[in-house]
Amino acid sequence: MCERLIKEGYNVLCVDNFYTGSMENIRHLLHHSEFTFKEHDITDPITADNISFIFNLACPASPIHYQEDAIFTTKTSVVGTLNLLDLARKNSCPILQASTSEVYGNPHVHPQTEDYYGNVNPIGIRSCYDEGKRCAESLCMDYYRQYGIDVKIIRIFNTYGPRMAKNDGRVVSNFIVQALQEEDITIYGDGNQGRSFQYIDDLIEAIFRVMKDDVPHTPINIGNPNEISVKDLADMVLRITKSKSAVTFKSLPQDDPCRRKPDINLAIKVLDGWTPQVCLTDGLKYTIDYFRDTL
Ligand code: UDP
Repeated sequence: MCERLIKEGYNVLCVDNFYTGSMENIRHLLHHSEFTFKEHDITDPITADNISFIFNLACPASPIHYQEDAIFTTKTSVVGTLNLLDLARKNSCPILQASTSEVYGNPHVHPQTEDYYGNVNPIGIRSCYDEGKRCAESLCMDYYRQYGIDVKIIRIFNTYGPRMAKNDGRVVSNFIVQALQEEDITIYGDGNQGRSFQYIDDLIEAIFRVMKDDVPHTPINIGNPNEISVKDLADMVLRITKSKSAVTFKSLPQDDPCRRKPDINLAIKVLDGWTPQVCLTDGLKYTIDYFRDTL
């Protein structure tokens, strides 16, 4: 996102606490005069002037990382979002809130439309993330209703691509790293659970359009509706990497959703015909190339 903004001529103030982010991912931007970096945790208030747009992309998104310190995860989504909403208010600028498909929990409606309220376990091990993000959406809507802040909420579905950490823990990077290192591919459960994977560049394009276009203040799903089972994903990764890794089955984590697929009709309508452009095979190839180079 920083790269794209600089390329389009914007000045960027990038803020990260490096909880899951990495300096390596932004080092090449540090010499740009349009780029400023500040190490900061958004659970502490932040001051900045002359801001014309805020993107709140903060919060660990991988289950193993957001469950590591669950209270901090909730704090990041709730207190962190409050702090950025206050910053948007002070600067009278719009703010984009990165929400998530996790607000739908283990959905009974398939594919998920924005008007579906979801099926979330409010006390489970995923609730720090799910409920934190749901509360953040609620805060955004209240800042819009009470203070007229121009909030833009996107619900991001499973996204993957280059610059993921090798220890990210989510399925795409796990399978690729395991395949490249000839380690066993770990399928949780029977592998029949479905997910819809979106390549990072498609997400960035959507975020960019959300920033520039006049979009509704209500949430918009951003994802690739092409659904695949975890078992089939493992086969694809094995085929593309030509790996000899074996497949092992491990227990399914608590509250792991059975299916997940976005209805993106609203996004297509309000984002000037945006649709995902990168198919899973190509996206996996780019991501495999990245991990081959970095491992
Ligand atoms: N998963 C898996 N093996 C792994 C990591 C994840 O089978 O090494 C499964 C996980 O149980 C879930 C799916 O893949 O059913 C997607 O998991 P991920 O953590 O990537 O995202 P999320 O569960 O948040 O959609």
